[in-house]
Amino acid sequence: MAAHPSSRIAVIGAGIAGLACAKRLSNAGQSVTLFDKARGPGGRMSSKRRPKATLDLGAQAFTVRHADFAAEVERWRDAGCVAKWPNCLYQASPSGWQVHHDGQNRFVGAPRMSAITRHLAESLESQGAALHTQTRITTLNPTTDGWQLKSATDEVFGPYTHVVISAPPPQAAKLVQEWDNRLFSLCQRLPQRSCWAGWVVFDAPLPALPGEASEWQMARAQHPALRLISRNHTKPGREDAPESVSLIAQLDWSEEHLEEESDAVAQKLFDALRSLYPAPLRWPKIVDMGAHRWRYSQPAENADMPEEGFAIGHDGLSLCGDSLRGGRVEDAWLSGHQLAQALSGQN
Ligand SMILES: Cc1cc2nc3c(=O)[nH]c(=O)nc-3n(C[C@H](O)[C@H](O)[C@H](O)COP(=O)(O)OP(=O)(O)OC[C@H]3O[C@@H](n4cnc5c(N)ncnc54)[C@H](O)[C@@H]3O)c2cc1C
Repeated sequence: MAAHPSSRIAVIGAGIAGLACAKRLSNAGQSVTLFDKARGPGGRMSSKRRPKATLDLGAQAFTVRHADFAAEVERWRDAGCVAKWPNCLYQASPSGWQVHHDGQNRFVGAPRMSAITRHLAESLESQGAALHTQTRITTLNPTTDGWQLKSATDEVFGPYTHVVISAPPPQAAKLVQEWDNRLFSLCQRLPQRSCWAGWVVFDAPLPALPGEASEWQMARAQHPALRLISRNHTKPGREDAPESVSLIAQLDWSEEHLEEESDAVAQKLFDALRSLYPAPLRWPKIVDMGAHRWRYSQPAENADMPEEGFAIGHDGLSLCGDSLRGGRVEDAWLSGHQLAQALSGQN
């Protein structure tokens, strides 16, 4: 069901997929309203502001392959909310740390990952789109004029001729279950993995790696608990912030420790970093430390993604998001953008 100029479109989820979809539809002249259960837009590209530092807790950096996404990233760079990072990637294992060149250019939001989604949200609002944050949509109800949306606090929105759901599949499944068997069964074929993301802020820089001239910025870790370490203060626009690291856990380890207290998880991830770090063990003082649990962090390996990278169902319902296309920032953006193209009847 294509959207017409008189369509009223609701987008549930203001992560990068929902925002990309809303932006494309709004550029095509459609009336768009966004909803997100969180305090702001961003989803898994959000950043955490602490008194001393800003930490990226989801995506740490992203790659660019598709020409449409490359063009969009150039626009973000022109707007000043994206920069290239890191220049110095390492592989960290108990046998040592080595510079790791995988030939990929990576990018990051500047001065924090959430700058990109904030830029998109502001641009949408300047085009007249509404964004309702702290609004968890719990129910969709069909009416003769379209879909009514009900929130967890019993607010009612709509009706809308189209509803785009960009929430991760287990959350999307609850919304479509009653109304669209095909979309519901697709959600069930897209199982998700969980992931802990820790952070530590220090009062002084970490000791340099022995024998390494360059200052490391991000390291892929070979450790049972730890998968990725990134130094937030080395990201563009954060040069004046104190030393801080994001510690992204291994997926199996995360699921084994899923219901633990976040403080205990943060300590374990920091212990993992210490056990891997080759420099003499004179660590700077910790000024802040914590961990965030992503219950739906990325699609499982056996996820059965649709060929199109999005899904259009009955009566104006559709799905987009990273899980329908591949599990990365670029996949999420393309999923939302291409769904909007399909809904607008443009290729
Ligand atoms: C720890 C971690 C590290 C990562 N590292 C990388 C990386 O290095 N490179 C990379 O490319 N990708 C990485 N990713 C993946 C990347 O972050 C995601 O692919 C991308 O951000 C997903 O965007 P999305 O819009 O599809 O989903 P999300 O960002 O999850 O957006 C969905 C939104 O829906 C909202 N929502 C859910 N249910 C409801 C509801 N009922 N009502 C209203 N709102 C709702 C949520 O609040 C959320 O904001 C990482 C992810 C994690 C968790």
